[in-house]
Amino acid sequence: MARTFFVGGNFKMNGTLESTKSIVEKLNSAPLASDAEVVISPSFPYLAAAKSIITAKNISVAAQNSADRPNGAFTGEVSVAQIKDVGADWVIIGHSERRTIIKESDELIADKTKYALDNGLKVILCIGETFEEKQANKTLEVCERQLSAVISKISDWTNVVVAYEPVWAIGTGLAATPEDAQNIHADLRKFLSEKLGKSVADSLRIIYGGSVNGANATSFKDKADVDGFLVGGASLKPEFIDIVNSRQ
Ligand code: PGA
Repeated sequence: MARTFFVGGNFKMNGTLESTKSIVEKLNSAPLASDAEVVISPSFPYLAAAKSIITAKNISVAAQNSADRPNGAFTGEVSVAQIKDVGADWVIIGHSERRTIIKESDELIADKTKYALDNGLKVILCIGETFEEKQANKTLEVCERQLSAVISKISDWTNVVVAYEPVWAIGTGLAATPEDAQNIHADLRKFLSEKLGKSVADSLRIIYGGSVNGANATSFKDKADVDGFLVGGASLKPEFIDIVNSRQ
């Protein structure tokens, strides 16, 4: 089953209006692999501006979070309707920084995922274990628990990309080895196949995130179950283009 190579750029809480626009302009004029799906995720204040200047056909925009309910009294939150209104098609849900720092629960992440999908946003659903959980051999147990919360709430996975992002690899320079990522992705696909059926699992993209950069991206090239990347730090740099082109 051919799954379109997916590269997400998670800008996190970084940048200015000018620097965000400059990244988009560089992507617009770069020789980007036309068969890669690229989704950039600037901070909320810059979403509309980023979207309005994108000219490359295969680039779309994601928010970094969305509320689990419609517009209304929820100070400081941003709704799915508002995100769609400024032209974003995607949202990142369940990033480890929100799970660990903001203390978002599996349950809330599942609710947000369901609400976003039901209301027309596509979801990059992040999962992954901490260093302590890895040391305790709990990688799969943790990822399966995080996925199960969502499995119990949604049945249509067409508009979901799962991002496996081990917490210990995020922003540390210590990426998972391509072999380890492949093994975990294959185990996750097997688990998803058991829960959702083989055809859903075979078509679902499972991307890797955690210290991916222009130098290591090509080493994942022949890993059959690694369908792309979610890139943090390197998405703010020119090497993001090399990551997008790493399958060529
Ligand atoms: P990193 O972040 O590429 O800076 O490790 C990845 C992420 O948090 O999505």
